[in-house]
Amino acid sequence: MNQQDKTGQCLCGAVKYEGLGKRGRVHVCHCGDCIGWTGGPLMAVQFAQGVAVSDPAAVNWYKSSARAERGSCKICGSALFWRLRSDHNMVAVTAGSLDRIDALGAIEEHIYIDKKPPWYEFSDDAPRLTGAEFFARLQEQ
Ligand SMILES: [Zn+2]
Ligand SMILES: [Zn+2]
Repeated sequence: MNQQDKTGQCLCGAVKYEGLGKRGRVHVCHCGDCIGWTGGPLMAVQFAQGVAVSDPAAVNWYKSSARAERGSCKICGSALFWRLRSDHNMVAVTAGSLDRIDALGAIEEHIYIDKKPPWYEFSDDAPRLTGAEFFARLQEQ
């Protein structure tokens, strides 16, 4: 993995970031909040030690639930970050905002598959968890 595999930016370039630590694989979330926020399922990638943002003032944080907030560029509106409100190092970046989207490899997991609308399907065979299954696993950790 070279350094470029960890960097990304919004559409207009006002927000640039670098992932810290090991990069995870792509997770796809089909929940209503993610579809509402991005217009489609959220494809996101986590870094083990969080993300360093070049210009934090250029990011608008929206509290989308009691637990999570979502960051987008104040200028171009690109969806960039999802993070836990209680732990800002628990942050994922949108897969499409990474500079090297060709370097991501196979999808690791789908979550909230029970919320997926019927008019699209992914062709990969990664595990598909319902919201309840995903939530149960979080409680175990
Ligand atoms: Zn922007
Ligand atoms: Zn979601």
